[in-house]
Amino acid sequence: MTAPFLTVADVRLIEQQVKKILRAKSSSSDTKIVNTVRGLAVAELREKLNMVNEDILKEVEILEDSINTELFFHSLKAYTIPFKAISDKGLQKLFKKDKKLKLPKLDSIDWQTISYLSWLDKGTNRQYIVLENEGEYIALRGIYEASTSTKGVCAICNQHSSVHLFTATVKGNGDHYTSYSNYICEDVLVCNSYVSDYTKLEQFVYRNLASNECGK
Ligand SMILES: [Zn+2]
Repeated sequence: MTAPFLTVADVRLIEQQVKKILRAKSSSSDTKIVNTVRGLAVAELREKLNMVNEDILKEVEILEDSINTELFFHSLKAYTIPFKAISDKGLQKLFKKDKKLKLPKLDSIDWQTISYLSWLDKGTNRQYIVLENEGEYIALRGIYEASTSTKGVCAICNQHSSVHLFTATVKGNGDHYTSYSNYICEDVLVCNSYVSDYTKLEQFVYRNLASNECGK
């Protein structure tokens, strides 16, 4: 069996492109239009996938209906690299400055469906974000404001969604602090279901991280 080679974000990208093709098929009986959409979708996959796999692209080129599509999506699971599972202890180590760290329910997480791990502490309004880069975890903590809930574009997944303001504070020289605020999806599972570009996600975290106080 082939070793997994698709990131979770790759799988999302494939799903999004296939859904575009199905939408075109259901809204147009003109095969020319459908074929154009299909050609663009395959070209985008070729350009953006972490690792291009001709068998997968071939499947996308021939997908005709939603039943085959469901089977196809399911078959991708065998090739999906899961987010590297982390334990409660591992999280406590990442956020060791938080003495009363509220932990997420790790046993309910399907690691094959998330590009990043995030959870909210409604008591303190803290939002925690964990990324993985070459086996290492990267931790970011910020404050979210539920009262800022609105519709907008999320800085992590770049999709139009229900978002709230997330503010990370970065320590500069001496006692100088700078805060960065971004709108991000309120629902981290919804956000994860949209993330199709891991680089953008990483850029968001690194931008906010600099020397984020939760770190080392
Ligand atoms: Zn999002």
